[in-house]
Amino acid sequence: MTVVLFALLGLLVGGLVNQLGSDLPARRALTRPHCPHCGQNRPCQQWLSLPAYLVGRAQCPSCNARISLRHPLAEIGLAVAYGYLWITFGPSVKLALYLVYSAIFAIVLITDIERRLILNVLMFPAILFAAVASFFTPGMVWQSALAGGVIGLLFFLGAALVGNAVFGSGALGGGDVTLAAFIGLIVGFPLIVEALVLTILIGAAISLLLIVTRVRTLHDHIPYGPFLVAGAIATLLWGYPIADWFLYR
Ligand SMILES: [Zn+2]
Repeated sequence: MTVVLFALLGLLVGGLVNQLGSDLPARRALTRPHCPHCGQNRPCQQWLSLPAYLVGRAQCPSCNARISLRHPLAEIGLAVAYGYLWITFGPSVKLALYLVYSAIFAIVLITDIERRLILNVLMFPAILFAAVASFFTPGMVWQSALAGGVIGLLFFLGAALVGNAVFGSGALGGGDVTLAAFIGLIVGFPLIVEALVLTILIGAAISLLLIVTRVRTLHDHIPYGPFLVAGAIATLLWGYPIADWFLYR
């Protein structure tokens, strides 16, 4: 029963995440949900996009602009994630932290995929939060979190410097560096190494798939944030089983 409540909470947080995903890159203060096209405030029953999608009327009532598919996807995605986290971790400190991290990752996915942006206004508070949380995370000591953060930061800083020298500027952005530091803080050392390896493997596999299927060409920029997020989630949920499989099979 409680799982339904957590799924509903995820749905509501998904609505907030959609709003932040639109407002933060536009440097707007968080306002009431509104149409990104005409600015008209949405009526309360449209604060979530899912009901509108379910009745087949996913449009702004004022200007008829379509509500993009990203909105219901974020709502459903977080509903599933919150339900899953409750089932997996139950009432615990980890659950509370992972609920917050899921929302942060969702905003990163939205802004990086839509606009190739990972915003400092999101990542700096997230890093501060993760640093403080490392003192309260079961199974984590702050030295491990700090080492993870520094390794994530330095690895992606190095990759960005090399990537920009080889492929021209913009191959990797500053946002990828702050995101890697954040991930290092929450997974800690030594799991940050696994998170980085998984990120590179997932990135290579998906990029190859996109290029082979001609969805993207070699010259297109493919945002790297989603791969970092995928590597981080896999490490947070299945870090040690995956490490065992890699090392001993
Ligand atoms: Zn509108």
